[in-house]
Amino acid sequence: MKLIFEKSVPGRRMTVLPVCDVPPAELPRELVRDTAPALPEISETDLSRHYTALCRHVHGVNCGFYPLGSCTMKYNPRIDEEMASLPGFTNIHPLAPAHTVSGCREVLDTAAQYLCRIAGMDGMTFQPAAGAHGEFTGVLLIKQYHDARGDSKRTKIIVPDSAHGTNPATAAMCGYQVVNIPSAPNGCVDLEALRAVLGEDTAGLMLTNPNTVGIFDENILEITRLVHEAGGLCYYDGANLNAVMGVVRPGDMGFDCIHMNLHKTFATPHGGGGPGAGAVGCKEFLMPYLPQSSLMTGSECLQVRSFAGNFLVVVKALTYIMTLGREGIPEAAQNAVLNANYLMHRIKGTFTPAFDRLCMHEFVLDLSEFKKETGVSALDVAKSLIDYGMHPPTMYFPLIVHEALMLEPTETESRETLDWAAEVFGKLYELGHTDPEWMHHAPHNAQIGRPDEVQAARRPVVRWQKA
Ligand SMILES: *Cc1c(COP(=O)(O)O)cnc(C)c1O
Repeated sequence: MKLIFEKSVPGRRMTVLPVCDVPPAELPRELVRDTAPALPEISETDLSRHYTALCRHVHGVNCGFYPLGSCTMKYNPRIDEEMASLPGFTNIHPLAPAHTVSGCREVLDTAAQYLCRIAGMDGMTFQPAAGAHGEFTGVLLIKQYHDARGDSKRTKIIVPDSAHGTNPATAAMCGYQVVNIPSAPNGCVDLEALRAVLGEDTAGLMLTNPNTVGIFDENILEITRLVHEAGGLCYYDGANLNAVMGVVRPGDMGFDCIHMNLHKTFATPHGGGGPGAGAVGCKEFLMPYLPQSSLMTGSECLQVRSFAGNFLVVVKALTYIMTLGREGIPEAAQNAVLNANYLMHRIKGTFTPAFDRLCMHEFVLDLSEFKKETGVSALDVAKSLIDYGMHPPTMYFPLIVHEALMLEPTETESRETLDWAAEVFGKLYELGHTDPEWMHHAPHNAQIGRPDEVQAARRPVVRWQKA
């Protein structure tokens, strides 16, 4: 497909402005550029077609199944967007006098109350702009707590190897030494390994639960007890709360602080290019260190972002929570778990689950045997799914499973869609044995086949340059 710049024809316009009937004002000479900007010149029809064509090349939740593990690509009710586009919410200014934005204040306060109740926490801030930013904020709470007590020997944060990759990065960004501990064969935290590293230098533990292989740690209470006993605090990575919301509360499991990605679980799609919100909650004793979200409290309190964070994401989350209500929130979680288990069982006859046990909202397939048999890799399977109209699952993550495909079907998929997905996986399993070549070269029907992933990550070309 051609770029909009390549479709440009000199002099082509879509004139919408009337002829100027006032004398033109001259701009100061020093502000005027020497050469005209290289903007595309194109008619309105062609512009509209260009963007519509681009839109058709994108796979979204409204186009088809999107089982991208850990990212909760679920369908989000349109009413959430509708509420977030109300002029009373969109036309405010962060410096508006408090009495003119008391409705917005109420949205923040109410959302904080509900999320505190869901997480089992006492305080909540909406400042962090995303999950990793929330983790950073949460671990800073832990740091400030130890600093305030003059406990300077706590220099280490423990991170199990089944954690999300952002966890060790966060701990390092906060100036901590990261202590990695291995998982037990059942996919849970190895308690012996945990005991062995706990000590006077432990600042805390960061835990993703359910972890990245989709397992709820059965020793969760023992884990938090051990960390507290050593004087550390417990951080809950609740980026994806889909399996537990309304069912169990991280606060009751013994965690001291948490971040939740409102842009996964609570109505804003993850990775959609828009803003997110990594709401951070904590227990009462950490509240003095919590950055405030108030519209007007301004500079005197700790801030990790300007003003109240991405406010409209909170509007969507509140709408979502109020629409589902006390009964709907746990029901959504239960259906997410049901759908994941259903799909795992339907696929199980072909590809092998990494952990063949009850999963939470997601599960991981281990394709290492399949690759040995056929030479077809997890990447080949993921690429082949594109030809069947399915978004690939998360690949090669978590690192503790080789040839991993991580699937999270979410609760908003019908049984028919899950059956179809299982059939597609079944077909690809067969194809791996009969026509591996086809799979090595998939996708056959996409705009982009197999970009050089190193180049794409290290030197992405995302900007058109005038020749
Ligand atoms: C998505 C995710 C994160 C990071 O969230 P971002 O908003 O992408 O920064 C952290 N932890 C877990 C478990 C996640 O699934």
